[in-house]
Amino acid sequence: MIYYKTPEEIEFIRESSLLVAKTLAEVSKLIRPGVTTLALDKCAEEFILDHHAKPAFKGYHGFPNSLCISVNAEVVHGIPSNRALIDGDIVSVDCGVLKNGFYGDSAYTFTVGEVKDEILKLLQITKESLLLGIAKALPGNRLGDVSHAIQEHAEKNGFSVVREMVGHGIGRNLHEKPEVPNYGKRGSGIILKEGLVIAIEPMINFGKKNIRQGKDGWTITTIDGLPSAHFEHTIAIGNEKSDVLSTFAYIEEVLQVS
Ligand code: MG
Ligand code: MG
Repeated sequence: MIYYKTPEEIEFIRESSLLVAKTLAEVSKLIRPGVTTLALDKCAEEFILDHHAKPAFKGYHGFPNSLCISVNAEVVHGIPSNRALIDGDIVSVDCGVLKNGFYGDSAYTFTVGEVKDEILKLLQITKESLLLGIAKALPGNRLGDVSHAIQEHAEKNGFSVVREMVGHGIGRNLHEKPEVPNYGKRGSGIILKEGLVIAIEPMINFGKKNIRQGKDGWTITTIDGLPSAHFEHTIAIGNEKSDVLSTFAYIEEVLQVS
């Protein structure tokens, strides 16, 4: 079943989502060639604990760390390690926190040093597809309108949409109904109503859409070995529009982009 949230509950989810946004901004300060993904994880975990919250992913179905960090051909669910980032990498950092009994969830794909223009385009289009999906997340629209907007923008630009991994409802649980696919038909799916809170998270591949799970039981990678990008916001459907509860503003202040 779908849990529709009260305005009070949405404020708790906003608080958690803003803490995620600030955590990702802290992490972004460290991203450069030579830093290990484990160092990023440690930074995030300390920042979350310092803010009287819990890292949502640590221990979730046995996941070992606080962040999911996925480099280049890794799509999502990468496990932090002693791997050092190198010039030209892209790195998806996915963060969730639990505070006051409610979760927030957001992800951003960062560049490391100089990244090729064609890969920068993948990041830009993935972020735009998230924003176009959010623009369709209006009360009275259907979930498929959101999914379709994401897919259309990604594919129009020559990229492909991961099918097996999807966005989700969020609230007292990290993953709730409904599933939020990044592909679909306009006019299909449930009608969006006030109080629905969802994490929209396009995972867009540079090459083919196919993915596989790694031997570690977690890391999802592209089968063709080409890079993948991932951006995620937690949003609430209001009575007239959608309310983005997470933000990239803190991150982009650090990165000096807009
Ligand atoms: Mg996430
Ligand atoms: Mg998520």
